Amino acid sequence: QAKLAGKNRYHFFDTAKDTAVRGLHESIERIRQGLLNDEFVLFYQPKVNMQQGTVIGVEALIRWQQGDQVMLPPDSFLHHIEDQQLGIELGDRVIRMAMQQIAEWRSVGLQIPVSINVSAQQLQQPDFVASLQYSLSEFPTVIASDLEIEILETSALRDIEQITQVIRDCRKMGVKVSIDDFGTGYSSLTYLKHLRVNTLKIDQSFVRDMLVDPDDLAILEGVLGLAQAFRRTVIAEGVETEEQGKFLLDLGCYYAQGYAIARPMPADEIPNWISQWQPPSSWLDRAVCDRN
Ligand code: C2E
Ligand code: MG
Ligand code: MG
Ligand code: MG
Repeated sequence: QAKLAGKNRYHFFDTAKDTAVRGLHESIERIRQGLLNDEFVLFYQPKVNMQQGTVIGVEALIRWQQGDQVMLPPDSFLHHIEDQQLGIELGDRVIRMAMQQIAEWRSVGLQIPVSINVSAQQLQQPDFVASLQYSLSEFPTVIASDLEIEILETSALRDIEQITQVIRDCRKMGVKVSIDDFGTGYSSLTYLKHLRVNTLKIDQSFVRDMLVDPDDLAILEGVLGLAQAFRRTVIAEGVETEEQGKFLLDLGCYYAQGYAIARPMPADEIPNWISQWQPPSSWLDRAVCDRN
């Protein structure tokens, strides 16, 4: 009797939660269907050396294109499948789509490193590195050094020992590794020493506010100093204005990604974009000053 009352009460108070759970199930099913229908596409955003005016790579960013509806950004759907088997399946699909693209670009004479974002869940799969290697073997013209993986700082901190091993194995294989959104995860200097990555991608929030907030500028300068001491490359994310780029160059940060350079674009626009890109003249002036 008491048990029954408890059960009824549970149902009464939990309708909102039930609805939320049903909503989640529906979202997951739609994503599963989208994967079957090949509705996920990768856009690519260039990364450049502002000082030399060269393109150093492109980052693959997932988009969901359902029929003729507006394209959905990753933040609107990835969280639904964060800890689902489907998250692994979508992650594998991204890796294969990126490799397919590298092979296509190679076949038209364009060789450019492509970075892919990998989730904590993907990294926690014991066979992550092996399956990356297997995928590479399926694309004979794609080599490990064409590929880079981006790991969120917050993911890296989730299971530091395991991620450290993944980083080591990737680099042994020839795949480069970046820490993404660096500065948002509060990793200590000790951790950074163990995270033997090639690149730190400083989070866009610091870049956005560096000209107005002295604390953000101090963090940015700190990361640049640290990176130099540890021989890591730094890429500034979210460079939206020419002014920000110029300021970063003055700080000695040469690599950047952001709307001031290019927005993420469909793969077929990349070859033309690369062949015609010119940095703003104020960046080149900066480079000339530096050489004298
Ligand atoms: P992220 O890896 O840090 O990528 C940078 C995000 O900032 C992208 O958003 C990009 O479009 C945006 N962005 C680039 N330049 C600028 C700028 O100048 N200003 C501003 N305001 N934004 C800029 P997007 O494509 O919506 O992706 C959001 C996040 O979703 C990514 O952040 C990444 O963490 C995640 N993501 C994207 N694709 C994948 C994927 O294939 N797998 C996984 N696991 N995560 C992904
Ligand atoms: Mg990224
Ligand atoms: Mg980022
Ligand atoms: Mg981000």
